[in-house]
Amino acid sequence: MREPRLNTRCVRAAHSPDAATGAVAQPIYLTTTFERDPDGAYSRGYRYSREGSPNRVALESCMAALEGGIGAAAFASGLAANMSVFELLRNADHVVAPLEAYYGTLKQLREHARERGIAVDFADFSDPSAIKAAFTARTRLVWIETPTNPLLSITDLALVSAMAHEAGALVVCDNTFATPVCQNPFDFGVDVIVHSGTKYLGGHSDVLSGLVVVREDAALLERLQSWQRLCGAGLGPFDCWLLRRSIATLGIRVRAQCHSALLIAEFLRTHPAVERVYYPGLAQHPGHAVAAAQMHGGFGAVLSVCIAQGREAAFETVRRTRFFTPATSLGGVESLIEHRASIEGPGSKTPQNLLRLSIGIEDSEDLIDDLAQALA
Ligand SMILES: *Cc1c(COP(=O)(O)O)cnc(C)c1O
Repeated sequence: MREPRLNTRCVRAAHSPDAATGAVAQPIYLTTTFERDPDGAYSRGYRYSREGSPNRVALESCMAALEGGIGAAAFASGLAANMSVFELLRNADHVVAPLEAYYGTLKQLREHARERGIAVDFADFSDPSAIKAAFTARTRLVWIETPTNPLLSITDLALVSAMAHEAGALVVCDNTFATPVCQNPFDFGVDVIVHSGTKYLGGHSDVLSGLVVVREDAALLERLQSWQRLCGAGLGPFDCWLLRRSIATLGIRVRAQCHSALLIAEFLRTHPAVERVYYPGLAQHPGHAVAAAQMHGGFGAVLSVCIAQGREAAFETVRRTRFFTPATSLGGVESLIEHRASIEGPGSKTPQNLLRLSIGIEDSEDLIDDLAQALA
């Protein structure tokens, strides 16, 4: 029989009824400590919940299965997951990272990593020659985010992975925007995947979380898990349970969200009040060809739009929408709209007339009608 397909894995991966009671949903194990055997051993596998808990193991096994890796580690946030990867680096190691990526990730590299003596160079990741030029003899890690924030730029996963491996560097991909529904970075040579589980995996804007998944290197997985235990930032049982429960509907949600996002991007592209739409599903997007080659089932459900009349008109559009909540973040069932430059603060290179839309699971006709009246 072939490997189960995506929705089957979302529901069934590492999930079976509770052996003790037959409960179909996994119980939430709210315990910090576990009973020892008469001889002092822990034959049931758990000792103390900072080190691991049944809900965390269920979530980590599920994510490893969804991404096709050997194992995963769940953290209290996406940034905590990132940090476990940066902790692999030593003084004088070198990182190549994109100019455009999640704001917090860039801040971790610019501030925390550099303070620890790690050299970081940023390059335009849509230009392979610029990436190549950034490599040094000490490059140990290449960080990729695709599609990225807020211009939905696309990085060629196979090309950059091959370049990094030739230089002996580890390749990490932040797969938050695409999710395993639309993109499987391990198929293109990526070594480690990170997620902000806060976004699509959680999917309901109610749980902060992060995940790291390792493709095949058991020693690397052990180092990341050891950091998870040592820094004590592992995800708690209830948050793990919420996330695992949400992942059951991940495929259904994300495919619906991507479908609506493409319809909305096409509607906005020709609207006279709109100067430009950034969405990798549009043929006009500079990363479209690469995205079409490495993504499947959709191009994600985040898009950015520049309002022709400028910053004030962008704010006015936000005020007039009914079905888009003005809030940061993305990936939830409810659509969000956000003026990016003002949340990124001074030094942001994001255009002042840019709004980022996260498309939820509302009916796309309602979302399009709403944007039409808000832009009128
Ligand atoms: C939100 C986000 C993060 C950070 O995750 P938190 O859960 O907020 O810590 C990292 N990368 C991307 C692409 C994100 O969207």
